[in-house]
Amino acid sequence: MDTPLIFERPEQTVMPIQGETAFFPIRRVYCVGRNYAAHAREMGHDPDREPPFFFTKPADAVVSGTGDVPYPPATQDLHHEIELIVALKADGVDVPVEEASKLIFGYGVGVDLTRRDMQSEAKKMGRPWDMSKGFDASAPCSPLVPVENAGDMSQGEIGLSVNGDLRQKGDLAQMIWKTEEVIAYLSRLMRLRAGDIIMTGTPEGVGAIAKGDHVKGWVTGLPGVDFRLR
Ligand code: MN
Repeated sequence: MDTPLIFERPEQTVMPIQGETAFFPIRRVYCVGRNYAAHAREMGHDPDREPPFFFTKPADAVVSGTGDVPYPPATQDLHHEIELIVALKADGVDVPVEEASKLIFGYGVGVDLTRRDMQSEAKKMGRPWDMSKGFDASAPCSPLVPVENAGDMSQGEIGLSVNGDLRQKGDLAQMIWKTEEVIAYLSRLMRLRAGDIIMTGTPEGVGAIAKGDHVKGWVTGLPGVDFRLR
């Protein structure tokens, strides 16, 4: 019997899948901090393979990376962070690195939008990052591509331009913690489930974007994001 609810069940956030009519239902959005050495340095940290650390965004922070994306309230310094997304199709606890690829449904491209002014204040005050990282529409994403169609995602260009100017350019091979290592590590902290997606960190070159800016982000071999801030 269905559990009676006092109002309609909140809408399930989904991501389109390239070449398929069915959608990917999102359970959780995990994000890796400082996973490219040059970005760790530009944020004032030493990237010498400290263990990865994680934060989360709500599932409904994910929005289409095509068309218009709303400029959020309460910031004067909204930053772009282009990231490879890995989407999971199976559950896992204490997953060995060698088994991690079995959990992967596919890949996508997303922008980890960040209220940098609010985040800097939070860091200074020892406060949580939720409001600086997990606001509404803080994760414009591309459609997902199933692993069998995505090819080798351990290397390849990852980049982002704003109004046609190149801002971020890196290579997936520069990730400090590889996708499989991220999955293995995270599965020791949380029970991973089908429907979880992981944003795997951003290369150097993060910076501010303003209302009206045209943002394009890409990873070789995947559909990109292409949106305007409104
Ligand atoms: Mn990020």
